[in-house]
Amino acid sequence: MGEDTKMATRKIGEIDGRHLAVVLPHIELEVSHTSGNYVIDVHGKRYLDFVMGWCVGNVGWNNEMLVKRLRDFSGPYYVSPDYKYAPWERLAKLLVDISPRNISVAFRATGGSEAIETALRAAMLYTGRTEFISIEGSYHGHTLGAMSIGSSEFRERFSTLMPGCHKLQLPLDDRCLVDAEQKLALGSIAAVVMEPVLCNLGGIIPTQEFMRGLHRLCKAHGTLLVVDEVATGFGRTGRLFAHEHYDIEPDIICLGKAITSGYAGMGATLVTEQIARAMDFEFSFYSTYGWHPVATEAAVANIEFIRDRWPELQSHVTSMGSYFESRLKEIGSGHIIDYRIIGLAIGLRFAAAGAATRLASLCRERGLLIHAMSHDTIQIFPALTITTDVADEGLSILAGAIRLL
Ligand code: PMP
Repeated sequence: MGEDTKMATRKIGEIDGRHLAVVLPHIELEVSHTSGNYVIDVHGKRYLDFVMGWCVGNVGWNNEMLVKRLRDFSGPYYVSPDYKYAPWERLAKLLVDISPRNISVAFRATGGSEAIETALRAAMLYTGRTEFISIEGSYHGHTLGAMSIGSSEFRERFSTLMPGCHKLQLPLDDRCLVDAEQKLALGSIAAVVMEPVLCNLGGIIPTQEFMRGLHRLCKAHGTLLVVDEVATGFGRTGRLFAHEHYDIEPDIICLGKAITSGYAGMGATLVTEQIARAMDFEFSFYSTYGWHPVATEAAVANIEFIRDRWPELQSHVTSMGSYFESRLKEIGSGHIIDYRIIGLAIGLRFAAAGAATRLASLCRERGLLIHAMSHDTIQIFPALTITTDVADEGLSILAGAIRLL
């Protein structure tokens, strides 16, 4: 190919003069290595990580026990979705054992979006219906099905997403439940899909009344309740799964991110036996790399790590959540107008427009990583194992940055 032709086809690469498509807006941080709560860049600068890959690294980066398990793993290095692989059954059982009683089957996936796709297909097959309800502005992945139940903004560029995807408007209150009931009464809704704590909407925590009311309505109308626990799963909110806060039994649970705590790519869709039966036909699902042996080893090691420490880890997450809350209320006074804190899922809305993006870059300059979810909302997702000393180190950087707003 001549140089001219190359230039003509090099659109995305032109953004930074390279060939790799990047997520925009792009953060200038090139990771060299990681350790516990820290990320070290190629220039040797150390960052305290209050994001952990956005709900991924729940047990800390480079966790000794997980690294050892992966180093000792002797294979097999292969992929064949058609053969039996015993550790798949072991992982599926681990997942089912930590799930509500009604859940009994796990589908393999490579990540969260694929887990959502399987949930959508399973709900359609089980109910014989084709429509969905989700929360406006939410995010469930970048596959076309997941985008269809995500923010309506996706439809501005991708006008042919799935039809029949209804959206509930915030706030999640009585009026919203009435709206849900009217939509459910159409009799065409296969499933309501939502995050039980809405990390992708800045950490909104639904009330007990809302979640229980929605669950009751779903049951009354023969609609499945699908909880997207891709971000909230594996202890993030102080429960193994965030739906446990509400004492409800969802029909389908979608998992990803912290299922391996960042040691390999993986997703899973957990369903009831009856729903699994609706998927019990040739080619109902397929995933070449779904649960690769290395990823399976990472997930088993990670889930055993969390499960074996759970009572202590759970009380640690709860008490660290309270610690963050009281410290944030001191340092954020006069600036933060909404504290959304449940376990170590933390969303903070600032009064000033633009505060979030400015804070994220001020903190990054000073060696702390936080996430700007929107112009006024930041998110903090520390490792679940974080200590008060490390929390204080980050909170003092954050306090200094807030003073500069
Ligand atoms: N659901 C939720 C709630 C998510 O936060 C994400 C990713 N941010 C996804 C689904 C999609 O997961 P993945 O990127 O692994 O496809």
